[in-house]
Amino acid sequence: MRPRVLKNGIFYTGDVRAPYARALAIGGERILALDEEALAWAHAPGALVEDLEGALVIPGLVDAHLHLMWYAMSLRDLDLRDLSREALLQAVAERAAELPPGEWIQGRGWDQNLWPGGRFPTAAELDAVAPVHPLVLIAKSAHAAVANSLALRLAGIGVGTQDPPHGHFGRRLDGAPDGMLFEHAIEAVLAAVPQPAIAEVVDALAVAQEQLLAVGLTGVHDVDAAPAFAAFQQLHRERRLKVRVTKYLPLEVLDDLLHAGVRSGLGDDRLRIGGLKIFADGALGARTAALFAPYEGEPDNVGGLTIAPEELLAVARRAAGGGIALAIHAIGDRTNRLVLDVLEVVRPLGPGLRHRVEHVQLLAPEDAPRFATLDVVASMQPIHAPHDQVMADRYWGERAAHAYAWGTLGEAGARLAFGSDAPIESFDPRLGLYAAVTRRHEDTGAPGPEGWYPRQRLALGEALRAFTHGAAYAAGMEDQLGLLKPGYLADLVVLDRDIFALPAEALLETRFLRVMVGGAWAEVP
Ligand SMILES: [Zn+2]
Repeated sequence: MRPRVLKNGIFYTGDVRAPYARALAIGGERILALDEEALAWAHAPGALVEDLEGALVIPGLVDAHLHLMWYAMSLRDLDLRDLSREALLQAVAERAAELPPGEWIQGRGWDQNLWPGGRFPTAAELDAVAPVHPLVLIAKSAHAAVANSLALRLAGIGVGTQDPPHGHFGRRLDGAPDGMLFEHAIEAVLAAVPQPAIAEVVDALAVAQEQLLAVGLTGVHDVDAAPAFAAFQQLHRERRLKVRVTKYLPLEVLDDLLHAGVRSGLGDDRLRIGGLKIFADGALGARTAALFAPYEGEPDNVGGLTIAPEELLAVARRAAGGGIALAIHAIGDRTNRLVLDVLEVVRPLGPGLRHRVEHVQLLAPEDAPRFATLDVVASMQPIHAPHDQVMADRYWGERAAHAYAWGTLGEAGARLAFGSDAPIESFDPRLGLYAAVTRRHEDTGAPGPEGWYPRQRLALGEALRAFTHGAAYAAGMEDQLGLLKPGYLADLVVLDRDIFALPAEALLETRFLRVMVGGAWAEVP
């Protein structure tokens, strides 16, 4: 294997003991050496030497929470983000005109909070523009959706249909479903949508991974449903998987995993099993996340759990006892407390497992130190803070001081792993880094120069760590990924400017010149 020497760069290693290097040598997939020792490799037979002309190089970025199949498949869905009610109906009408009758139309990203009055859409409104195409449109939060009458009919949902556990149908005065679907009621309609063939998913993922590389992402932690796993395996088998994937599998397959003896860490450094993804509550936007005290202005609404505490504990015991790490979705402060309580109980059953709480959006301040004490990873998505700020202030009031609290968590010694929750938000890590260090909206600058609850801001190095070594820790790969260090996998990104030397705004303009995964430069479009 010919060694490759990268010289004359500013290598930000992420290693606190030696944060910078000037040169880096690579052999095969791994980093051989830094600095003088790296330069010595230039004299080895056949060595390739590349001059980086002073560019900044950082470890490859990892998105620690996204739904890649969902994103990839949604590239063909209607993008309803930021649309008014009228524009949404218009977009549906246009798509219906293009498709043969009977074909499903899917869309996502609408947000009634942006509409005057904030009233939810109805099946009747959708029927008017798309009477002969089944239609389901998922809200920005993904915890609510709206379907038209044909979709409801195909899903077998009518006047007599009972609400599912942990979910409900919006209803008209006569009791008939009005098209709105909350929490588990969404699945009742999605179950009627024909599943895409694996080949379709493979093709869609192949497109999506190019987009990841283009923004410096060399790895992802995917929390999508099980079909994505088959598709990732096919890509890997065909040597077409260009980014590293740590796969989290849904609760439905726990029994199968346990029967087969599948444990966290199974796989290789390109595709491996992370653990089990479980939902414990809803979301902020739909006001379904479980809180200790009611939502502001809704004295009767404290949200709710989507799984009974006893059941969560039982499931967590079985998973941890079988060597499977838990990744539990918890938005509300009440849910975060519950999940930490559960993880405290099951921790001894599976020593070393990298349990994680997904989102950690609202946290009782006294629970922050528990992440460090219990060695639980706080898996957070910084972009949610500036984008949810208005909603969080409105629905959580003063409690928002402890929302998206990576500052508090970091000070308390918690390990942070950052992601995006794409496709709910963009997976562009520049936006996540900017949000983490400024707590400001990337377009509007809201709420002002100091940012939203500025004590929660992170230094750039800390934010970058959560997107690199922190994510590696969450996947149990911290001894080989997330730092530029001898022995580590050579995943790195070359930037067009030194983001450490510039104001935070420069992050948004930064371009990724080159991306390397496992010692090989990726073709970046
Ligand atoms: Zn998610």
